[in-house]
Amino acid sequence: MQAMLLDALQRIVGGANVLTGDNCVPYETDWRGRYRGKALCVVRPGSTQEVAAVVQACAAARVCIVTQGGNTGLAGGATPSDAGTQVVLSLTRMQSIREIDTENDTLTVEAGCVLQTVQDAAAGRERLFPLSLAAEGSCTIGGNLATNAGGTQVLRYGNARELCLGLEVVTASGEVWSSLRGLRKDNTGYDLRDLFIGSEGTLGIITAATLKLFPVPAAQVTAFTALPSIQAAVQLLQMARSHLGAGLTGFEVMNAHSLQLVATHFPNQPLPLPLDAPYFVLLELSDTISEPHASGMFERLLEHALHDGVMSNAAVAQSLQQSFEFWSLRESIPLAQAEEGLNIKHDISLPISRIAEFVATVGGQLETEFPGARLVNFGHLGDGNLHFNLQAPAGVDAVEFLHTHQASCNRLVHDAVHARGGSISAEHGIGQLKAAELQRYKPELELQLMRAIKQALDPHSLLNPGKVLI
Ligand SMILES: Cc1cc2nc3c(=O)[nH]c(=O)nc-3n(C[C@H](O)[C@H](O)[C@H](O)COP(=O)(O)OP(=O)(O)OC[C@H]3O[C@@H](n4cnc5c(N)ncnc54)[C@H](O)[C@@H]3O)c2cc1C
Repeated sequence: MQAMLLDALQRIVGGANVLTGDNCVPYETDWRGRYRGKALCVVRPGSTQEVAAVVQACAAARVCIVTQGGNTGLAGGATPSDAGTQVVLSLTRMQSIREIDTENDTLTVEAGCVLQTVQDAAAGRERLFPLSLAAEGSCTIGGNLATNAGGTQVLRYGNARELCLGLEVVTASGEVWSSLRGLRKDNTGYDLRDLFIGSEGTLGIITAATLKLFPVPAAQVTAFTALPSIQAAVQLLQMARSHLGAGLTGFEVMNAHSLQLVATHFPNQPLPLPLDAPYFVLLELSDTISEPHASGMFERLLEHALHDGVMSNAAVAQSLQQSFEFWSLRESIPLAQAEEGLNIKHDISLPISRIAEFVATVGGQLETEFPGARLVNFGHLGDGNLHFNLQAPAGVDAVEFLHTHQASCNRLVHDAVHARGGSISAEHGIGQLKAAELQRYKPELELQLMRAIKQALDPHSLLNPGKVLI
Protein backbone atom coordinates (compact mmCIF):
# COMPACT_ATOMS: atom_id res chain seq x y z
CA MET A 1 0.00 0.00 0.00
CA GLN A 2 2.77 2.45 1.00
CA ALA A 3 4.73 1.56 -2.16
CA MET A 4 1.64 2.27 -4.29
CA LEU A 5 1.20 5.63 -2.59
CA LEU A 6 4.87 6.54 -3.11
CA ASP A 7 4.50 5.65 -6.80
CA ALA A 8 1.39 7.79 -7.08
CA LEU A 9 3.09 10.74 -5.35
CA GLN A 10 6.13 10.46 -7.63
CA ARG A 11 3.87 10.54 -10.67
CA ILE A 12 2.20 13.72 -9.36
CA VAL A 13 5.22 15.81 -8.31
CA GLY A 14 8.13 14.03 -10.03
CA GLY A 15 10.58 11.60 -8.42
CA ALA A 16 12.99 14.34 -7.32
CA ASN A 17 10.26 15.91 -5.19
CA VAL A 18 9.44 12.84 -3.12
CA LEU A 19 12.12 12.47 -0.45
CA THR A 20 12.59 9.32 1.60
CA GLY A 21 15.03 7.96 4.22
CA ASP A 22 17.80 10.28 5.41
CA ASN A 23 16.70 12.99 2.96
CA CYS A 24 13.66 13.54 5.21
CA VAL A 25 15.73 14.33 8.34
CA PRO A 26 15.65 18.16 8.05
CA TYR A 27 11.84 18.00 7.91
CA GLU A 28 11.46 15.66 10.89
CA THR A 29 12.65 17.92 13.71
CA ASP A 30 11.21 21.21 14.92
CA TRP A 31 13.14 24.49 15.14
CA ARG A 32 13.73 24.16 18.87
CA GLY A 33 14.85 20.54 18.58
CA ARG A 34 12.21 19.37 21.04
CA TYR A 35 10.33 17.01 18.72
CA ARG A 36 11.77 14.38 16.42
CA GLY A 37 9.45 12.45 14.10
CA LYS A 38 9.77 9.96 11.27
CA ALA A 39 8.04 10.66 7.97
CA LEU A 40 6.85 8.09 5.45
CA CYS A 41 8.16 10.59 2.90
CA VAL A 42 8.38 14.32 2.22
CA VAL A 43 6.42 15.54 -0.83
CA ARG A 44 7.24 18.88 -2.43
CA PRO A 45 4.46 19.93 -4.82
CA GLY A 46 5.00 22.87 -7.17
CA SER A 47 1.41 24.01 -7.71
CA THR A 48 -2.04 24.06 -6.15
CA GLN A 49 -3.18 21.37 -8.58
CA GLU A 50 -0.32 19.15 -7.42
CA VAL A 51 -1.23 19.78 -3.76
CA ALA A 52 -4.83 18.76 -4.53
CA ALA A 53 -3.68 15.59 -6.32
CA VAL A 54 -1.32 14.70 -3.44
CA VAL A 55 -4.14 15.14 -0.92
CA GLN A 56 -6.47 12.99 -3.04
CA ALA A 57 -3.86 10.23 -3.24
CA CYS A 58 -3.20 10.35 0.52
CA ALA A 59 -6.93 10.46 1.29
CA ALA A 60 -7.55 7.40 -0.91
CA ALA A 61 -4.82 5.55 1.00
CA ARG A 62 -6.03 6.97 4.36
CA VAL A 63 -2.53 8.35 5.01
CA CYS A 64 -2.19 11.45 7.20
CA ILE A 65 -0.59 14.68 6.02
CA VAL A 66 1.56 17.08 8.05
CA THR A 67 1.85 20.37 6.18
CA GLN A 68 5.11 22.25 6.57
CA GLY A 69 6.28 25.71 5.53
CA GLY A 70 9.57 27.10 6.81
CA ASN A 71 9.53 24.75 9.84
CA THR A 72 10.16 27.63 12.25
CA GLY A 73 7.01 27.07 14.32
CA LEU A 74 7.50 26.94 18.07
CA ALA A 75 4.79 24.45 19.05
CA GLY A 76 5.88 21.27 17.21
CA GLY A 77 2.96 21.67 14.79
CA ALA A 78 4.92 20.82 11.64
CA THR A 79 6.71 17.73 12.96
CA PRO A 80 5.30 14.31 11.96
CA SER A 81 4.71 11.52 14.50
CA ASP A 82 7.54 9.02 15.00
CA ALA A 83 5.56 6.14 13.44
CA GLY A 84 6.94 6.61 9.92
CA THR A 85 3.39 6.60 8.51
CA GLN A 86 2.68 10.31 7.87
CA VAL A 87 3.45 12.29 4.73
CA VAL A 88 5.12 15.67 5.25
CA LEU A 89 3.79 18.08 2.63
CA SER A 90 6.37 20.83 2.19
CA LEU A 91 5.14 23.92 0.37
CA THR A 92 8.53 25.58 -0.03
CA ARG A 93 8.54 25.17 -3.84
CA MET A 94 5.36 27.25 -4.10
CA GLN A 95 6.89 30.70 -3.87
CA SER A 96 5.50 32.82 -6.66
CA ILE A 97 3.92 36.20 -6.18
CA ARG A 98 0.86 35.95 -8.36
CA GLU A 99 -0.22 39.59 -8.36
CA ILE A 100 0.42 42.99 -6.78
CA ASP A 101 -2.57 45.30 -7.17
CA THR A 102 -1.44 48.76 -6.04
CA GLU A 103 -4.87 50.32 -6.56
CA ASN A 104 -6.50 47.74 -4.30
CA ASP A 105 -3.39 47.67 -2.06
CA THR A 106 -3.22 43.88 -2.16
CA LEU A 107 -0.66 41.23 -2.93
CA THR A 108 -1.53 37.65 -3.85
CA VAL A 109 1.15 35.10 -3.10
CA GLU A 110 1.66 31.34 -2.93
CA ALA A 111 1.84 29.87 0.54
CA GLY A 112 5.48 28.74 0.42
CA CYS A 113 6.79 32.26 -0.19
CA VAL A 114 9.15 33.41 2.56
CA LEU A 115 7.83 36.33 4.62
CA GLN A 116 10.85 38.52 3.89
CA THR A 117 10.35 38.03 0.14
CA VAL A 118 6.77 39.29 0.52
CA GLN A 119 7.98 42.32 2.51
CA ASP A 120 10.57 43.04 -0.20
CA ALA A 121 8.04 42.63 -3.03
CA ALA A 122 5.72 45.11 -1.31
CA ALA A 123 8.61 47.56 -0.73
CA GLY A 124 9.50 47.26 -4.42
CA ARG A 125 6.09 48.77 -5.21
CA GLU A 126 6.39 51.42 -2.46
CA ARG A 127 4.04 49.59 -0.13
CA LEU A 128 4.42 48.09 3.32
CA PHE A 129 3.54 44.53 4.28
CA PRO A 130 3.82 44.95 8.04
CA LEU A 131 4.02 41.39 9.39
CA SER A 132 7.47 41.18 10.94
CA LEU A 133 9.09 38.60 13.20
CA ALA A 134 12.56 37.28 13.92
CA ALA A 135 12.04 34.18 11.74
CA GLU A 136 11.02 36.28 8.70
CA GLY A 137 14.03 35.14 6.65
CA SER A 138 12.76 31.54 6.65
CA CYS A 139 9.11 31.32 7.75
CA THR A 140 6.46 31.22 5.01
CA ILE A 141 3.21 33.08 4.49
CA GLY A 142 1.31 29.78 4.69
CA GLY A 143 2.88 29.04 8.07
CA ASN A 144 2.27 32.61 9.26
CA LEU A 145 -1.41 32.30 8.42
CA ALA A 146 -1.75 28.72 9.69
CA THR A 147 -0.39 29.88 13.07
CA ASN A 148 -1.99 33.36 12.92
CA ALA A 149 1.46 34.77 13.69
CA GLY A 150 1.80 38.04 15.59
CA GLY A 151 5.23 39.67 15.64
CA THR A 152 6.37 43.17 16.34
CA GLN A 153 3.77 45.40 14.67
CA VAL A 154 0.49 43.85 15.88
CA LEU A 155 -0.13 46.95 17.96
CA ARG A 156 -0.75 48.99 14.81
CA TYR A 157 -1.56 46.50 12.03
CA GLY A 158 -2.93 43.38 13.79
CA ASN A 159 -2.04 39.68 13.64
CA ALA A 160 -1.63 37.71 10.39
CA ARG A 161 -5.41 37.22 10.43
CA GLU A 162 -6.04 40.97 10.15
CA LEU A 163 -3.59 41.21 7.24
CA CYS A 164 -5.31 38.60 5.09
CA LEU A 165 -8.24 39.31 2.77
CA GLY A 166 -8.59 35.92 1.12
CA LEU A 167 -7.24 32.38 0.91
CA GLU A 168 -6.89 29.51 -1.50
CA VAL A 169 -7.16 26.21 0.38
CA VAL A 170 -6.97 22.55 -0.54
CA THR A 171 -9.52 20.70 1.58
CA ALA A 172 -9.06 17.32 3.27
CA SER A 173 -10.76 15.64 0.31
CA GLY A 174 -8.46 17.34 -2.19
CA GLU A 175 -10.80 20.02 -3.54
CA VAL A 176 -9.66 23.62 -4.10
CA TRP A 177 -11.59 26.46 -2.43
CA SER A 178 -10.64 30.03 -3.25
CA SER A 179 -11.54 33.45 -1.88
CA LEU A 180 -8.65 35.36 -3.48
CA ARG A 181 -10.82 38.31 -4.50
CA GLY A 182 -9.20 41.08 -2.52
CA LEU A 183 -12.48 42.16 -0.90
CA ARG A 184 -12.45 44.27 2.23
CA LYS A 185 -16.12 43.62 2.82
CA ASP A 186 -17.90 40.33 2.21
CA ASN A 187 -20.71 39.56 4.62
CA THR A 188 -22.08 36.49 2.88
CA GLY A 189 -22.31 33.98 5.69
CA TYR A 190 -19.74 32.04 7.72
CA ASP A 191 -16.18 33.31 7.28
CA LEU A 192 -14.27 30.25 6.12
CA ARG A 193 -11.08 32.28 5.75
CA ASP A 194 -11.05 33.00 9.46
CA LEU A 195 -11.62 29.32 10.19
CA PHE A 196 -8.55 28.20 8.24
CA ILE A 197 -6.34 30.98 9.65
CA GLY A 198 -4.83 29.75 12.90
CA SER A 199 -5.91 26.13 12.31
CA GLU A 200 -2.28 24.91 12.14
CA GLY A 201 -2.76 22.57 9.20
CA THR A 202 -5.60 20.64 10.87
CA LEU A 203 -8.52 21.83 8.69
CA GLY A 204 -7.04 22.47 5.24
CA ILE A 205 -3.86 23.29 3.35
CA ILE A 206 -3.37 26.96 2.53
CA THR A 207 -1.88 27.23 -0.96
CA ALA A 208 -2.18 30.99 -1.58
CA ALA A 209 -3.32 34.18 0.11
CA THR A 210 -4.34 37.73 -0.76
CA LEU A 211 -2.71 40.11 1.72
CA LYS A 212 -3.29 43.74 2.63
CA LEU A 213 -0.67 46.36 1.81
CA PHE A 214 -0.18 49.72 3.54
CA PRO A 215 1.54 53.04 2.76
CA VAL A 216 5.24 53.13 3.63
CA PRO A 217 5.66 55.50 6.61
CA ALA A 218 7.36 58.83 5.83
CA ALA A 219 9.54 58.51 8.94
CA GLN A 220 10.34 56.03 11.68
CA VAL A 221 11.88 56.82 15.03
CA THR A 222 13.12 54.14 17.40
CA ALA A 223 14.21 54.43 21.01
CA PHE A 224 15.72 52.06 23.53
CA THR A 225 14.71 53.01 27.06
CA ALA A 226 15.58 51.88 30.60
CA LEU A 227 12.83 51.59 33.21
CA PRO A 228 12.65 50.99 36.95
CA SER A 229 9.94 48.26 36.78
CA ILE A 230 7.42 46.40 34.65
CA GLN A 231 4.75 48.69 36.13
CA ALA A 232 6.66 51.63 34.65
CA ALA A 233 6.69 49.85 31.27
CA VAL A 234 2.89 49.62 31.38
CA GLN A 235 2.71 53.33 32.28
CA LEU A 236 5.07 54.19 29.42
CA LEU A 237 2.78 52.26 27.06
CA GLN A 238 -0.21 54.39 28.13
CA MET A 239 1.81 57.59 27.68
CA ALA A 240 3.11 56.46 24.29
CA ARG A 241 -0.43 55.70 23.15
CA SER A 242 -1.73 59.10 24.13
CA HIS A 243 1.28 60.97 22.65
CA LEU A 244 1.72 58.96 19.45
CA GLY A 245 -1.76 57.55 18.76
CA ALA A 246 -1.86 55.10 15.83
CA GLY A 247 1.76 56.05 15.04
CA LEU A 248 2.99 53.74 17.80
CA THR A 249 3.99 50.64 15.81
CA GLY A 250 6.29 48.83 18.23
CA PHE A 251 6.44 48.43 21.98
CA GLU A 252 8.70 45.59 23.10
CA VAL A 253 9.60 44.93 26.72
CA MET A 254 12.76 43.07 27.84
CA ASN A 255 13.98 42.35 31.33
CA ALA A 256 17.68 42.73 32.10
CA HIS A 257 18.22 38.94 32.17
CA SER A 258 17.07 38.57 28.58
CA LEU A 259 19.48 41.27 27.36
CA GLN A 260 22.31 39.85 29.47
CA LEU A 261 21.88 36.57 27.56
CA VAL A 262 22.24 38.47 24.27
CA ALA A 263 25.32 40.30 25.59
CA THR A 264 26.86 36.96 26.63
CA HIS A 265 26.17 35.00 23.45
CA PHE A 266 26.40 37.77 20.85
CA PRO A 267 29.01 40.11 22.34
CA ASN A 268 29.51 41.94 19.04
CA GLN A 269 26.05 43.47 19.22
CA PRO A 270 26.32 47.04 20.54
CA LEU A 271 24.26 47.84 23.66
CA PRO A 272 22.68 51.31 23.47
CA LEU A 273 22.43 51.59 27.27
CA PRO A 274 24.17 49.99 30.25
CA LEU A 275 22.19 46.99 31.53
CA ASP A 276 21.78 48.53 34.98
CA ALA A 277 17.95 48.77 35.05
CA PRO A 278 15.52 45.89 35.66
CA TYR A 279 13.50 46.54 32.49
CA PHE A 280 14.01 47.98 29.01
CA VAL A 281 11.52 48.97 26.33
CA LEU A 282 12.11 49.31 22.61
CA LEU A 283 9.51 51.61 21.12
CA GLU A 284 8.95 52.72 17.57
CA LEU A 285 6.92 55.49 15.98
CA SER A 286 5.95 55.31 12.31
CA ASP A 287 4.85 58.70 11.07
CA THR A 288 2.98 59.57 7.90
CA ILE A 289 4.05 63.27 7.90
CA SER A 290 7.81 63.85 8.17
CA GLU A 291 11.03 63.14 10.05
CA PRO A 292 10.95 66.45 12.05
CA HIS A 293 7.30 65.86 12.95
CA ALA A 294 8.09 62.34 14.17
CA SER A 295 11.17 63.43 16.14
CA GLY A 296 9.22 66.26 17.80
CA MET A 297 6.44 63.92 18.98
CA PHE A 298 8.98 61.41 20.21
CA GLU A 299 11.02 64.00 22.13
CA ARG A 300 7.93 65.27 23.93
CA LEU A 301 7.01 61.72 24.95
CA LEU A 302 10.48 60.91 26.27
CA GLU A 303 10.76 64.22 28.18
CA HIS A 304 7.41 63.60 29.80
CA ALA A 305 8.37 60.01 30.74
CA LEU A 306 11.73 61.10 32.20
CA HIS A 307 10.10 63.91 34.14
CA ASP A 308 7.50 61.54 35.65
CA GLY A 309 10.14 58.96 36.62
CA VAL A 310 8.57 56.34 34.34
CA MET A 311 11.85 56.05 32.48
CA SER A 312 15.42 56.39 33.77
CA ASN A 313 17.40 56.56 30.54
CA ALA A 314 16.85 56.55 26.77
CA ALA A 315 18.79 56.24 23.54
CA VAL A 316 17.15 57.40 20.31
CA ALA A 317 18.45 55.77 17.13
CA GLN A 318 20.41 58.29 15.09
CA SER A 319 20.40 56.28 11.88
CA LEU A 320 18.60 53.43 10.16
CA GLN A 321 21.60 51.27 11.04
CA GLN A 322 21.22 52.05 14.74
CA SER A 323 17.51 51.31 14.57
CA PHE A 324 18.35 47.87 13.06
CA GLU A 325 20.79 47.34 15.94
CA PHE A 326 18.09 48.08 18.53
CA TRP A 327 15.72 45.62 16.84
CA SER A 328 18.46 43.09 16.44
CA LEU A 329 18.99 43.08 20.21
CA ARG A 330 15.32 42.32 20.76
CA GLU A 331 15.17 39.69 18.03
CA SER A 332 18.32 37.96 19.27
CA ILE A 333 16.76 37.06 22.63
CA PRO A 334 15.20 33.74 21.45
CA LEU A 335 18.48 32.85 19.74
CA ALA A 336 20.50 33.74 22.84
CA GLN A 337 18.16 31.62 24.95
CA ALA A 338 18.66 28.70 22.58
CA GLU A 339 22.47 29.16 22.92
CA GLU A 340 22.17 29.18 26.70
CA GLY A 341 20.31 25.84 26.64
CA LEU A 342 16.78 24.49 26.84
CA ASN A 343 14.39 26.56 28.92
CA ILE A 344 10.80 26.39 30.04
CA LYS A 345 8.81 28.63 27.72
CA HIS A 346 5.48 30.37 28.14
CA ASP A 347 3.90 32.44 25.37
CA ILE A 348 1.13 34.12 27.31
CA SER A 349 -1.20 37.06 26.98
CA LEU A 350 -3.10 38.99 29.63
CA PRO A 351 -5.20 42.12 29.81
CA ILE A 352 -2.50 44.81 29.92
CA SER A 353 -3.97 46.15 33.17
CA ARG A 354 -3.09 42.84 34.89
CA ILE A 355 0.45 42.42 33.62
CA ALA A 356 2.38 44.26 36.36
CA GLU A 357 0.58 42.39 39.15
CA PHE A 358 1.04 39.08 37.29
CA VAL A 359 4.78 39.57 36.82
CA ALA A 360 5.27 40.61 40.46
CA THR A 361 3.17 37.78 41.94
CA VAL A 362 4.10 34.92 39.63
CA GLY A 363 7.71 36.05 39.29
CA GLY A 364 7.94 35.88 43.11
CA GLN A 365 6.34 32.42 43.17
CA LEU A 366 8.80 31.13 40.58
CA GLU A 367 11.73 32.47 42.62
CA THR A 368 10.44 30.61 45.68
CA GLU A 369 9.64 27.36 43.84
CA PHE A 370 12.77 27.25 41.66
CA PRO A 371 15.53 29.04 43.58
CA GLY A 372 18.28 30.49 41.38
CA ALA A 373 16.33 29.96 38.13
CA ARG A 374 16.45 32.99 35.84
CA LEU A 375 13.24 34.60 34.59
CA VAL A 376 13.71 35.66 30.98
CA ASN A 377 10.75 37.94 30.50
CA PHE A 378 10.33 39.76 27.20
CA GLY A 379 7.68 40.27 24.55
CA HIS A 380 5.17 42.39 22.77
CA LEU A 381 3.88 44.34 25.78
CA GLY A 382 1.78 46.57 23.54
CA ASP A 383 -0.31 43.46 22.74
CA GLY A 384 -0.35 42.16 26.32
CA ASN A 385 1.92 39.31 25.15
CA LEU A 386 4.87 38.12 27.27
CA HIS A 387 7.39 35.36 26.62
CA PHE A 388 7.67 34.47 30.29
CA ASN A 389 10.45 31.89 30.22
CA LEU A 390 12.42 30.17 32.95
CA GLN A 391 16.09 29.40 32.37
CA ALA A 392 17.94 26.91 34.60
CA PRO A 393 20.09 28.43 37.37
CA ALA A 394 23.61 29.21 36.13
CA GLY A 395 25.73 26.05 36.23
CA VAL A 396 22.70 23.68 36.42
CA ASP A 397 22.17 21.22 33.56
CA ALA A 398 19.45 22.83 31.41
CA VAL A 399 18.04 19.55 30.03
CA GLU A 400 17.69 18.03 33.48
CA PHE A 401 16.15 21.24 34.84
CA LEU A 402 13.59 21.25 32.03
CA HIS A 403 12.65 17.59 32.45
CA THR A 404 12.38 17.86 36.22
CA HIS A 405 10.48 21.13 36.49
CA GLN A 406 8.63 21.81 33.25
CA ALA A 407 5.30 20.28 34.30
CA SER A 408 5.10 22.03 37.69
CA CYS A 409 6.35 25.33 36.25
CA ASN A 410 3.78 25.20 33.43
CA ARG A 411 1.06 24.46 35.92
CA LEU A 412 2.00 27.41 38.12
CA VAL A 413 2.26 29.87 35.23
CA HIS A 414 -0.70 28.66 33.17
CA ASP A 415 -3.02 28.42 36.19
CA ALA A 416 -2.09 32.00 37.09
CA VAL A 417 -2.68 33.18 33.52
CA HIS A 418 -6.02 31.39 33.33
CA ALA A 419 -7.13 32.80 36.70
CA ARG A 420 -6.53 36.31 35.31
CA GLY A 421 -8.48 35.74 32.10
CA GLY A 422 -5.37 35.37 29.94
CA SER A 423 -4.32 32.96 27.18
CA ILE A 424 -1.76 30.14 27.42
CA SER A 425 -0.80 30.69 23.77
CA ALA A 426 -0.73 34.27 22.62
CA GLU A 427 0.90 33.85 19.21
CA HIS A 428 2.78 30.54 18.79
CA GLY A 429 -0.30 28.32 18.55
CA ILE A 430 -1.00 24.95 20.14
CA GLY A 431 0.65 22.33 17.90
CA GLN A 432 1.57 19.28 19.97
CA LEU A 433 3.32 21.35 22.65
CA LYS A 434 0.13 22.64 24.23
CA ALA A 435 -2.53 20.19 23.02
CA ALA A 436 -2.97 18.74 26.53
CA GLU A 437 -2.96 22.21 28.11
CA LEU A 438 -5.72 23.27 25.72
CA GLN A 439 -7.91 20.44 27.02
CA ARG A 440 -7.33 21.68 30.54
CA TYR A 441 -8.10 25.35 30.03
CA LYS A 442 -10.67 25.63 27.19
CA PRO A 443 -14.30 25.45 28.28
CA GLU A 444 -15.89 22.10 27.34
CA LEU A 445 -18.44 23.74 25.04
CA GLU A 446 -15.68 25.48 23.09
CA LEU A 447 -13.81 22.18 22.72
CA GLN A 448 -17.00 20.47 21.51
CA LEU A 449 -17.56 23.17 18.89
CA MET A 450 -13.94 22.89 17.75
CA ARG A 451 -14.26 19.08 17.46
CA ALA A 452 -17.48 19.51 15.44
CA ILE A 453 -15.66 21.82 13.00
CA LYS A 454 -12.77 19.37 12.67
CA GLN A 455 -15.20 16.49 12.06
CA ALA A 456 -17.05 18.49 9.38
CA LEU A 457 -13.93 19.56 7.47
CA ASP A 458 -11.68 16.54 8.01
CA PRO A 459 -13.94 13.59 8.88
CA HIS A 460 -11.17 10.97 8.65
CA SER A 461 -8.71 13.10 10.66
CA LEU A 462 -6.08 13.00 7.94
CA LEU A 463 -4.77 16.54 8.39
CA ASN A 464 -2.13 16.96 11.11
CA PRO A 465 -3.64 14.55 13.67
CA GLY A 466 -2.43 14.94 17.24
CA LYS A 467 -2.04 18.70 16.85
CA VAL A 468 -4.33 21.30 18.47
CA LEU A 469 -7.14 18.82 19.30
CA ILE A 470 -6.35 15.48 20.94
C1 LIG B 1 13.33 33.04 16.01
C2 LIG B 1 11.84 32.93 15.94
C3 LIG B 1 11.05 34.03 16.25
C4 LIG B 1 9.66 33.94 16.19
N1 LIG B 1 8.95 35.05 16.50
C5 LIG B 1 7.61 34.99 16.42
C6 LIG B 1 6.83 36.15 16.73
O1 LIG B 1 7.35 37.20 17.06
N2 LIG B 1 5.50 36.04 16.61
C7 LIG B 1 4.88 34.88 16.24
O2 LIG B 1 3.66 34.83 16.15
N3 LIG B 1 5.59 33.78 15.97
C8 LIG B 1 6.92 33.79 16.05
N4 LIG B 1 7.65 32.67 15.77
C9 LIG B 1 6.91 31.43 15.46
C10 LIG B 1 6.10 31.54 14.19
O3 LIG B 1 4.84 30.88 14.33
C11 LIG B 1 6.71 30.96 12.99
O4 LIG B 1 8.01 31.46 12.83
C12 LIG B 1 5.95 31.16 11.66
O5 LIG B 1 4.74 31.87 11.69
C13 LIG B 1 5.64 29.79 11.13
O6 LIG B 1 5.84 29.76 9.76
P1 LIG B 1 6.51 28.51 9.07
O7 LIG B 1 6.37 28.69 7.60
O8 LIG B 1 7.87 28.26 9.57
O9 LIG B 1 5.52 27.33 9.54
P2 LIG B 1 5.86 25.86 10.02
O10 LIG B 1 6.71 25.88 11.22
O11 LIG B 1 6.35 25.07 8.87
O12 LIG B 1 4.40 25.35 10.43
C14 LIG B 1 3.74 25.89 11.55
C15 LIG B 1 2.31 25.29 11.62
O13 LIG B 1 1.56 25.73 10.49
C16 LIG B 1 1.15 24.61 9.67
N5 LIG B 1 1.34 25.05 8.29
C17 LIG B 1 2.47 25.54 7.72
N6 LIG B 1 2.21 25.91 6.45
C18 LIG B 1 0.91 25.64 6.23
C19 LIG B 1 0.05 25.80 5.11
N7 LIG B 1 0.50 26.30 3.97
N8 LIG B 1 -1.24 25.41 5.22
C20 LIG B 1 -1.72 24.89 6.38
N9 LIG B 1 -0.94 24.70 7.46
C21 LIG B 1 0.35 25.08 7.39
C22 LIG B 1 2.04 23.47 10.09
O14 LIG B 1 1.38 22.22 9.89
C23 LIG B 1 2.26 23.77 11.56
O15 LIG B 1 1.18 23.34 12.31
C24 LIG B 1 9.04 32.72 15.81
C25 LIG B 1 9.83 31.63 15.48
C26 LIG B 1 11.21 31.72 15.54
C27 LIG B 1 12.03 30.52 15.16
